[in-house]
Amino acid sequence: MSEAVIVGGGIGGLATAVALSRRGWDVEVLERAPRIEAVGAGLSLWPNALRALDAIGVGAEVRSRASEEGSAGIRDERGRILSRTDIAAIRDRYGLPIMLHRADLLEILRAAVPESAVRTGISVTGVDEEGVVTHSEGESKGDLIVGADGIHSVVRRAVCGDITPVYAGYTAWRMVVTPSEPIGDLGETWGRGERFGFAALPDGRVYCFATANLPAGTESGGLAELRRRFGDWHAPIPALLAAADPASVLKHDIYELPPLPTYVRGTVALLGDAAHAMTPNLGQGACQALEDAVILARVADERGDLTHYDRERRPRSQMITARSRRIGTVAQLSSRPVVALRNASLRLVPPSAQVRALATVLDWTC
Ligand SMILES: Cc1cc2nc3c(=O)[nH]c(=O)nc-3n(C[C@H](O)[C@H](O)[C@H](O)COP(=O)(O)OP(=O)(O)OC[C@H]3O[C@@H](n4cnc5c(N)ncnc54)[C@H](O)[C@@H]3O)c2cc1C
Repeated sequence: MSEAVIVGGGIGGLATAVALSRRGWDVEVLERAPRIEAVGAGLSLWPNALRALDAIGVGAEVRSRASEEGSAGIRDERGRILSRTDIAAIRDRYGLPIMLHRADLLEILRAAVPESAVRTGISVTGVDEEGVVTHSEGESKGDLIVGADGIHSVVRRAVCGDITPVYAGYTAWRMVVTPSEPIGDLGETWGRGERFGFAALPDGRVYCFATANLPAGTESGGLAELRRRFGDWHAPIPALLAAADPASVLKHDIYELPPLPTYVRGTVALLGDAAHAMTPNLGQGACQALEDAVILARVADERGDLTHYDRERRPRSQMITARSRRIGTVAQLSSRPVVALRNASLRLVPPSAQVRALATVLDWTC
């Protein structure tokens, strides 16, 4: 039996553990946190990610804990439609994305890995050229070492040296709200250097997110700041903010990785945010980590030479990272005349063009 050491028990690391253990590999997941638990709120998973989850045998269970996401499109602060999403065409062409709580996905992945395979409370400090992983409890060795340890990856140093994440120029807030009455159409609203979005979770709760252009590290007033920024935007945004619990608001500055020259070195491979942390504008970060997991398990199991994984995954995930960045640049524009021009242009894009543009991202099969 082959053995893999996986550094990081997030979505990418656990999915890789599931994929490899289903192929008969012995896996050891080393996770720094004392427990596998989700930091975050809602998560959208697109049909490409659902295909990856089907490939590792958990797609049906994930769908059973999710709702289909049917965004109406993009609006301006007053609620006027800038770009309408043709939900029926997306459903027919690709299938709809789903929305679930991040904690549910982690729980499903965790349960699909043997209990003894996941070691929590272990902090990895390095990986040497022979693929020996050094950590707070000693060392671990395997035929394959997977760096699934997120944007500030320690394993990445062994693959391509020090790479500094780049600040995207904006901060994101996330929260899950229980609204007092059902909300209408879902979607995203673009203002000037600010955005607010919301999507239904399967249990009646609503996942909300917001962004604002701010210098990195700016202290925020949490919910009070969100109410100040978005409290006079169109319905149901004020009602969602009124129903929100200040303790549930998460705030993260958005960083991404510059394109790495390689995702592999010898028996060490990077995946997920450790390889290609991207801005959340396409909702593809976790989706790409799931694709990575399926392909890495297949290449390691069937071919051995990890350069095949690099060749298959790097161009695609870097293309999606770049595309996500470009959407963020447009969405976060803040100058009044430029935003007026952007909004006018958005109104001219036919929904069918939008549906076609998704093909390169969603038409992925494993
Ligand atoms: C605001 C926002 C919204 C998003 N929305 C979506 C969305 O809707 N859809 C989507 O697909 N993606 C979304 N993403 C992106 C998605 O969250 C990430 O791409 C995904 O979680 C990456 O998973 P990962 O397993 O690669 O990394 P992580 O989730 O960062 O997991 C890394 C794990 O490694 C552990 N670790 C780190 N260092 C060490 C160490 N030295 N030793 C041991 N363990 C270590 C960490 O504790 C962590 O558990 C969003 C991101 C943001 C910021």
